[in-house]
Amino acid sequence: AAKGGGRGQYRFFSSELKDGARLRRQIEEDLRDAIQTDQLELHYQPIVRTADHLVTGVEALVRWNHPERGWISPAEFVPVAEETNLITKLGEWVLRRACGDATAWPETMRVAVNVSAIQFAADDLPRVVRTALDRSGLDPARLELEITESVFLGDPQGTQAMLKTLKKMGVRLALDDFGTGYSSLGYLSSAPLDKIKIDRSFVAGATQDDTNNAAIITAIVSLAEALKMETVAEGVEAMDELDLITRLGASHIQGYIFSKALPQEEFLTRLTEGGLKFDPTGPARHRAD
Ligand code: C2E
Ligand code: MG
Ligand code: MG
Ligand code: MG
Repeated sequence: AAKGGGRGQYRFFSSELKDGARLRRQIEEDLRDAIQTDQLELHYQPIVRTADHLVTGVEALVRWNHPERGWISPAEFVPVAEETNLITKLGEWVLRRACGDATAWPETMRVAVNVSAIQFAADDLPRVVRTALDRSGLDPARLELEITESVFLGDPQGTQAMLKTLKKMGVRLALDDFGTGYSSLGYLSSAPLDKIKIDRSFVAGATQDDTNNAAIITAIVSLAEALKMETVAEGVEAMDELDLITRLGASHIQGYIFSKALPQEEFLTRLTEGGLKFDPTGPARHRAD
């Protein structure tokens, strides 16, 4: 029971939280609504080239403004969407919106879209991607699909075939959260990937001497270079992290030090103000807004 249990509302919320299944069902119901009634937004986080901090692309990150609960993190509702077939609808909405919004940016910039393993296993993914590209008129080379190592766990043959189909359509493929999955490295020998995203958990401790994270990042960077893939260091927040990652040679950087994910209008304003560059300002920038 909640502390000071006289507060009915609080008690209700806490018992509701305890009942995980009920909360999930509620989120599921509300999410179904949200997709149809425009409660979802896409925010865009810049990905910069390490050498000169030029914005080469963005990652599209979904945001949900729930009418009663306020902002709900995708880390909370994407898994619920994956447990139901809502991820299909959500994924389709995200792809369409991202491709549409990307047409307002300079042609040198790409948009990266997260594709859930469940979406990835569905046969109609190429059709959904094609529709999003056709409707927006976006050059396929400007769309990057982010997948995780987990897609290689279930059906490796089917996965390689799907990757090749998507690649033939001209889109780019990135491997997200690299180093956190349970799959072997065998898939790298034939998967047509363009980019490896080094997981934030390696970046976070990299400046402390008591971790092997810097060595791991160095190894991932040289692996990617040998495979002719780009690297993005995710989650760079502080100036000492930026310095270290720059020295370790990741080709691209994404993190709060440049910006958190921003709504389209705000992103475009910052982009224009900065002459297509974002300055590293550290977490202050993040906290300020
Ligand atoms: P992800 O794809 O690995 O996305 C990167 C996450 O790291 C984002 O969290 C981003 O806001 C956060 N991040 C970026 N830089 C920093 C930093 O410097 N410090 C810290 N602490 N965090 C940073 P977010 O937006 O909460 O998304 C969480 C996850 O939810 C994503 O991880 C992705 O797996 C999933 N997700 C988000 N949007 C979508 C979507 O449209 N579709 C699907 N299928 N999944 C999505
Ligand atoms: Mg991602
Ligand atoms: Mg990631
Ligand atoms: Mg992730």
